[in-house]
Amino acid sequence: MAIQTAILEEIKRYQTIIIHRHQHPDPDCVGAQLGLRTILRASFPAKTILAVGKHYPGFDWLGQADQNVSDDQYKDALVIVVDTANQPRVDDARWETGKAVIKIDHHPNDDAFGDLQWVDDQASSTSELLTDFYTANEAELTLPQEAARLFYAGIVGDTGRFMYPATSAHTMAVAGQLMTTGFSANDVNQAEDEISPAMARLSAYVYQNLTILPSGAAYLKLSDADLEPFELAETDSTSAVVPLPGKITTVKAWAFFVEVKDHTYRIRLRSKGPSINGLAKQHGGGGHALASGATAHDQAEIDQVIQELDTLVAQDKGE
Ligand code: AMP
Repeated sequence: MAIQTAILEEIKRYQTIIIHRHQHPDPDCVGAQLGLRTILRASFPAKTILAVGKHYPGFDWLGQADQNVSDDQYKDALVIVVDTANQPRVDDARWETGKAVIKIDHHPNDDAFGDLQWVDDQASSTSELLTDFYTANEAELTLPQEAARLFYAGIVGDTGRFMYPATSAHTMAVAGQLMTTGFSANDVNQAEDEISPAMARLSAYVYQNLTILPSGAAYLKLSDADLEPFELAETDSTSAVVPLPGKITTVKAWAFFVEVKDHTYRIRLRSKGPSINGLAKQHGGGGHALASGATAHDQAEIDQVIQELDTLVAQDKGE
């Protein structure tokens, strides 16, 4: 049985389905999660279909998760975790308390959890996979225009507006398929691309303060003190500046070190060639070959990551 059929059969067996996403959400995990919720609600009106996760006002244009999901609802529920490679990254620890778990993801399957898994690390996004899930089960599922908008937003987000190498001919076909439902792709593209004046000033700061090493490795630390003068709003996210160094011809791979609440640094690694997920794994993280994340506990670890990145880029024979 094809995995898409097996997943649908499992969904049919449960009255309550709770969909989880990862912490620090992005348009793909939100779009995939809320798009799947929209499809399942439209296709199975008698079932209770829920989505959980911390509220981020910056994603309200995509919709919101359900905020009043009780512990009790997990008792007989099927949990579907989307776009989340590692168990500790799942937003809301209750995902483990459901009756069964399905993992649907496009990251390398480093942490193979769940009773049923559909992991395809060649797919551009989880939203692309879930569009394929719909298509494979078209006879039994309904695709509301809103679900198509959400999946499209996820694909646009994870492909960097169809520019990252994971964008395949199939990705473009799926985006076209979604667009035929008639939502405004232009509104989605604009919502994902626009930045606030504060973020525009931060972008200028990034370009002016980025250190570019002779190897092509680049980095920038953004401490609370660095960010304070920009007066970023709750809806602003440093995510918007993470791709910027990639536009520079001499940059091959780069790292941002962003201070977080407990004064550790969230490492955000990106690359145009050399794989950086091995480096991320060495610092408690992981991710894709060209986009990974990890944690640095202090300045010494930041220095170490910079050195490792420098070596990795210098050794890369590349293209
Ligand atoms: P980010 O820089 O947070 O957008 O992350 C880029 C990619 O790396 C995403 O695909 C994440 O799934 C992955 N990633 C980020 N942080 C971690 C982490 N701490 N552990 C595992 N994977 C991570």
